[in-house]
Amino acid sequence: MNSRRKFLQKLTTAAIAIQFSPDIIAASYKNVYNEPYDGPVLRVAIMGLGSYANRVAEAMRDCKKAKVVSVISGTPSKIKDWQSRFNIPEKNCYTYDNFDQIKDNPDIDAVYVITPNALHRSQVIRVAKAGKHAICEKPMAINAAEGQQMIDACKKANVKLLVGYRMHFEPKTLEIIRMRNNGEMGKILFFQGWCGFAIGDPTQWRLNKQLSGGGSIMDIGIYAINGARYMVGEEPIWVTATETKTNKEIFKEGVDETIQFQFGFASGAVASCLSTYAMNNLDRFFLNGEKGYAEMQPSTGYGPIQGRTFKGELTQPHVTHQTVQMDEMASIIFENKQPIVPINGEEALKDLKIIDAIYLAVKTGGKVKLKL
Ligand code: NAD
Repeated sequence: MNSRRKFLQKLTTAAIAIQFSPDIIAASYKNVYNEPYDGPVLRVAIMGLGSYANRVAEAMRDCKKAKVVSVISGTPSKIKDWQSRFNIPEKNCYTYDNFDQIKDNPDIDAVYVITPNALHRSQVIRVAKAGKHAICEKPMAINAAEGQQMIDACKKANVKLLVGYRMHFEPKTLEIIRMRNNGEMGKILFFQGWCGFAIGDPTQWRLNKQLSGGGSIMDIGIYAINGARYMVGEEPIWVTATETKTNKEIFKEGVDETIQFQFGFASGAVASCLSTYAMNNLDRFFLNGEKGYAEMQPSTGYGPIQGRTFKGELTQPHVTHQTVQMDEMASIIFENKQPIVPINGEEALKDLKIIDAIYLAVKTGGKVKLKL
């Protein structure tokens, strides 16, 4: 067992034994996490220097196993700013036109693609062709066919393809998964996932189908899709879905505003989810089993995540999601570590197949079978 898991286990046990305040738990987490590390460091180029890229890069300052060493951007002023903030040498700076040249740069191990969704496919394929590991933001692509091409390209180039599913490393989420796997909640019967926010600026790329590939489902609904899978612990076998649109000016053809969708699982469990760009205060998961329940609110935001089960409050510490994610990705790349919930291209492809099926169900009004 690796030291992080040993540590998390130790910490959980300690938290149960003594009623530490969450702050004390978080502080002790930081101390252990900051123990010296002398293994390999994943040297990462960040592609697309927008809002989430900034969050990732700032979080990576605390990483032990990963470091920002390079940037890829179309905006010279952003490159300059990042060079000074992260001490990036000129030779590690690229544009969207010339980044294929990273193949000749031995100081870069991986490229993290953090651009609008519709660009992910071609950018990841170019990264693979340059012989670098690809880390891609969610959604991995805008449909399953594109996702499959990315998987194939990375396989062919013998590089890893990982997707930024930061919740797969979140301690309270992992504790619920542990309880479920341990049978503490009994047979799982029902999941509910509400994911949404009010989108704001009507000119942003998220509302442009050419760049986003769709609407709320692509961006925020994917958390409920992915969450249903890792909370229930099973793949859905069918989906039904209904779309509602209150503003056709902002949410043009092909850009969904609100979709309600339902899943059925082979075990008999069902899920009921809501994805929306039309309202705030929607960040909630609820999982119900024969013997007990778990609920999280907020469930997928940047945290602190809060949750409780039928046994009481979840007290695992808040960790910066992107810091842990990048350190874990380094272990996956260097040590072939298998995360509890996968974050590879195949995992992301399942979400894309479900998104395709949700759009089809909206169109046909019927139940769409899923083969994941
Ligand atoms: P953003 O608009 O803040 O940044 C996008 C970046 O892409 C900008 O720097 C922009 O200049 C660049 N870009 C390159 N080519 C572009 C083009 N043709 N049109 C528009 N912009 C272009 O967006 P963001 O919020 O950082 O989202 C980027 C990606 O990260 C998306 O795929 C999104 O789903 C994902 N994301 C993930 C999380 C998460 O928690 N995992 C959170 C936010 C965003």
